[in-house]
Amino acid sequence: MVVVMSPDATDEDVAHVVEKVESVGGEAFVSKGVVRTIIGLVGDIESFHHLNLRTLKGVADVHRISDPYKLVSRQHHPDRSTVWVGRPGQQVPIGPETFTFIAGPCAVESPQQTLEAAQMAKSAGATILRGGAYKPRTSPYAFQGLGIAGLEILGAVGEATGLPIVTEVVDARDVAVVAEHADMLQVGTRNMANFGLLQAVGDAGRPVLLKRGMTATIEEWLMAAEYIAQRGNLDVVLCERGIRTFEPSTRNTLDISAVPVVQATSHLPIIVDPSHASGRKDLVVPLSRAAIAVGADGVIVDVHPTPETALCDGPQALLGAELRDLAQAVRRLPDLVGRRPAVAAGAVS
Ligand code: PEP
Ligand code: MN
Repeated sequence: MVVVMSPDATDEDVAHVVEKVESVGGEAFVSKGVVRTIIGLVGDIESFHHLNLRTLKGVADVHRISDPYKLVSRQHHPDRSTVWVGRPGQQVPIGPETFTFIAGPCAVESPQQTLEAAQMAKSAGATILRGGAYKPRTSPYAFQGLGIAGLEILGAVGEATGLPIVTEVVDARDVAVVAEHADMLQVGTRNMANFGLLQAVGDAGRPVLLKRGMTATIEEWLMAAEYIAQRGNLDVVLCERGIRTFEPSTRNTLDISAVPVVQATSHLPIIVDPSHASGRKDLVVPLSRAAIAVGADGVIVDVHPTPETALCDGPQALLGAELRDLAQAVRRLPDLVGRRPAVAAGAVS
């Protein structure tokens, strides 16, 4: 932490800051410039916060140098992490060596629709199945998901296809039942700052897919990940899914730069959701290509056997030619950036 004194600060003001810092066991290094004095602090940052240094006479500003998150930061964990998803024998990696393709329906609607979507996903090369049983809808009148019946369908389809399952949990009270049926718990954009839910998924003993809040800064997002990590669960994968901007052509604006920015500061894997970022199926393939090129650790994409009848997000669901284009991009492009498609451990790629 660095304290910047104002140009008219007196020697007494500087001495007072030093005294305060030392009173909580910290060290203060004073550096006098021609116009200003700055003081470098070394010690426990939380105890410095309690000093309210900005309120002291002669203090112009206080800057934090180290990251506010610790467990998810690369400062303490320089190597990027790999998170494994699935039961023993079918675990799929998400991390820096591979490129993981996750696909499935936005919502679980029926056993038939989920199985067909899973088969489409699998034949396109996806190795993890997505699908929502609990849907966080903006309108209370919209389809809210099948709940436990949806989890059971996902479990059966996962069993039938051999694909591990990622599904969203929207309420801390449902974490246990979702963790019983799913291999990975998703926290959606609307719940990124639901700290009770983050703590509950942190305790659930399953990897977590943490989507970026649609109005969250990268730092706020990483602090949300820190809530999960603090419960002892470091198996967190971040998902950039677009942020709200003034641009109406797409549902959200995909912040592609978030990928390298996050990778520079956090060891957690990060994937991209081009479907929820754009809301448009014609943009899913180009944005997936961008995700691969920028070094993302994977993509998560909506597919549906009959998008025209989808109960949720039909306009962004892929099938047919777009899905074939996506499959081809995921098969070929990761190699150009030194990655290989992620398959289950022990499976032949
Ligand atoms: C989803 O993946 O089904 C979803 C609702 O995404 P988001 O939270 O990013 O809107
Ligand atoms: Mn959706």
